[in-house]
Amino acid sequence: MISVRSAQKHFGDLHVLRDIELEVPRGQVVVVLGPSGSGKSTLCRTINRLEPIDSGEIRVDGEPLPSEGRALANLRAEVGMVFQSFNLFAHKTILDNVTLGPVKVRGKKKEEARARAVELLERVGIAEQKDKYPAQLSGGQQQRVAIARALAMDPKVMLFDEPTSALDPEMVNEVLDVMVSLAREGMTMLVVTHEMGFARKAADRVVFMADGVIVEDTDPESFFTAPKSERARDFLSKIL
Ligand code: ATP
Ligand code: MG
Repeated sequence: MISVRSAQKHFGDLHVLRDIELEVPRGQVVVVLGPSGSGKSTLCRTINRLEPIDSGEIRVDGEPLPSEGRALANLRAEVGMVFQSFNLFAHKTILDNVTLGPVKVRGKKKEEARARAVELLERVGIAEQKDKYPAQLSGGQQQRVAIARALAMDPKVMLFDEPTSALDPEMVNEVLDVMVSLAREGMTMLVVTHEMGFARKAADRVVFMADGVIVEDTDPESFFTAPKSERARDFLSKIL
């Protein structure tokens, strides 16, 4: 579903992605781990083309990434992304936040988009908040709206970049629970997170990055119990 081949990315002199090879088959959940600055966010951002790569190739569902226009807007709908900061539209209600994209980008009828939005808000447990504004919701609730908003576009893939790291501890699980259920339903997911509980519970694979390189790509059990590289052992000793 996601295929990254020989991807290279520089920011000026900084070589942030070094010859990245990554295949994520349909329905797989891949957790990306690694120290700060290792290139995890950049990797995520290249997959929905928020960042272009210098060379190599990225495909989603077999198609090379488009670079502009309508095709790019469609790609961003098909590759849903949830960030650390929730990025909701502050001056729109929760319902409008979830309805806008499907109407504007996907060309859905307003009524149909609203019905689907209510369904998704129910699913993430906040349908009763639908007429409020983002600032009236807790961080955990806002992040669940962000997930519902991405799902409303009928994505083929969901990317999560540290979706719980800006949340108060007591709100982390309500967001992780939604992600776990999404994983169990078969969504293809690439998840940057330091939540080891999520990795153990939901990940099919763990990809460990350091200095722009994928150092390990293995199943969670092997990674957590027997990391092969010194870098990964060092990383795990700091976070576990
Ligand atoms: P963290 O765990 O702190 O989120 P990360 O693994 O997500 O780190 P990236 O955000 O991908 O790391 O950054 C990789 C490197 O690229 C870092 O050194 C960062 O400073 C640099 N970088 C990221 N975005 C840009 C940019 N737009 N311009 C210049 N340098 C950047
Ligand atoms: Mg990051």
